[in-house]
Amino acid sequence: MKFCPECKNAFNEDIEKCPNCKEILVDKLDEHQDIEFVELCDIEDPFKANLIIDVLEDNNIESYLYSEPVHIYPIPGEGIQFTVYVNKEKIDHAKSLLEDIERSENMEPLPDDEST
Ligand SMILES: [Zn+2]
Repeated sequence: MKFCPECKNAFNEDIEKCPNCKEILVDKLDEHQDIEFVELCDIEDPFKANLIIDVLEDNNIESYLYSEPVHIYPIPGEGIQFTVYVNKEKIDHAKSLLEDIERSENMEPLPDDEST
């Protein structure tokens, strides 16, 4: 796994440059030096993945997104999958935040029910 120093996202070892920022990827970010990360969840929707990262950061939980190489799959939703990693010491807090996000999503009324 490699990291982009710009957007802090993680990518496959095979990738040399960040597909978004064109930055050269590094093996480890300075701010991750003393932190052990564990997997929180898999997400297909990039917007939801970024929402989760925002919420985690708001709560001072160190986190990052790992994604499969996006330049091979340029169509959103077609095979792109994100994995959210969080600081192992804060996994319980992260899980409860994730549950809150899922719950608030389910409660939100649909914009229109024409499709169903
Ligand atoms: Zn980047």
